[in-house]
Amino acid sequence: MISVVRGMRDLFGPELRAWQRAEEVFRTTSASFGYEELRTPILEHTELFARGVGQETDIVGKEMYSFEDRGGDSVTLRPEMTAAIVRAAIEHNFVRHSPTTRIWYAGPQFRYERPQKGRYRQFHQYGAECLGSPHPEADVEIIQLAYSVLQTIGVTKFTLEVNTLGSTTSRAAYREALVTYLRANVERLSEDSQRRLERNPLRVLDSKDEQDKPVIAEAPKLVDYLDVESRQHFESVRLMLDVAGIPYVHNPLLVRGLDYYCHTVFEFTTTELGTQNAIGGGGRYDPLFALIGGTDTPAVGFSLGVERVMMLLEQERGEWGAEKGIDVFAIAIGDAARLPLRLISLRLRRQGYSVVEDLQRRSVKAQMRDADRHGARYTITMGDDELAQGNVVIKNMATGEQQSVADTNVEQFLTRP
Ligand code: AMP
Repeated sequence: MISVVRGMRDLFGPELRAWQRAEEVFRTTSASFGYEELRTPILEHTELFARGVGQETDIVGKEMYSFEDRGGDSVTLRPEMTAAIVRAAIEHNFVRHSPTTRIWYAGPQFRYERPQKGRYRQFHQYGAECLGSPHPEADVEIIQLAYSVLQTIGVTKFTLEVNTLGSTTSRAAYREALVTYLRANVERLSEDSQRRLERNPLRVLDSKDEQDKPVIAEAPKLVDYLDVESRQHFESVRLMLDVAGIPYVHNPLLVRGLDYYCHTVFEFTTTELGTQNAIGGGGRYDPLFALIGGTDTPAVGFSLGVERVMMLLEQERGEWGAEKGIDVFAIAIGDAARLPLRLISLRLRRQGYSVVEDLQRRSVKAQMRDADRHGARYTITMGDDELAQGNVVIKNMATGEQQSVADTNVEQFLTRP
């Protein structure tokens, strides 16, 4: 037997139908904020992520699905979307500062991580990017969009954490102070954090290792290194979140993994999913366009992990949510009625009803059971007598009521759901 690739999964049945409802929320909520969808290829040049995510990150360092294609080019299954969106925005020159460029996306991502509950090698993200505005209202719009999507999908047990990394200059000053401090305390740090200190020092603040906690507690604080502009930016974000009625906590240790973030960073976390506690996150990434070879463009975005949002939804509800059945199951009794009944089914489908026909030539009783399994709201039945009289029998499956009606007139007896 050949099984699915480790860390990847098949989606079907009630779970898939819950995903499809969530995908509808992605589309409609994004549109309600004026965001347009962008679809990029799943493969990109490896160099895009090396530059756009950063050599020092875990993603580029050890998690990418990279290979040489038959022409000898190094390509990579995308591990995240922001670099690809920025590449496309530069390539098609569609960043206009007026009006702001607003983009959303959804699709599979690939990271060679150790699989566990809520962590997969193929997973899905929905996200959005707001390109061209340096102002805090863009940060807030992005947070608001993510928050609205989570609310509309129906999850509630999460916390929005926000922080600021300050402008690129104040961040650099802080980084220097942090590195000096950490170097002086290097032997108190966990092995992982010693490694991070050299490659990506801000990530040490993110460490969940108990050994690191006292060192982190005494570390220089980022807020003490913020310049006036950075403080004002963050104050505005907080004020606008308050006004929008979006609850959040300020977590001064939140840094996010990537080197190009500045000013606002945020994460949606939950205590409901065990160790995989992040359901999404994002932030401002003004330096990224220049890193990928474009002109300086201020930008802010987020991505949500669809698997984790759906896990949270199922956990909160105890199920995948209400199932929608079909409208009509068409039951032919005997060979003669099969063709005329098929024509009625076609006609009903053209009017927008969902109609399922029996393909097994089974008994009426068996077909009635199938109608039930499909969650049909009605059955229409035609046998030799009905055929001779130009009738069908309509049964309302909820009430059990039956009536014989002219076959040209069936739709008058069907209600829309
Ligand atoms: P990141 O791009 O790492 O900030 O991830 C954004 C979101 O994607 C996270 O908050 C998770 O919800 C989700 N995510 C990241 N990696 C995985 C994974 N390996 N499996 C499932 N979800 C993931």
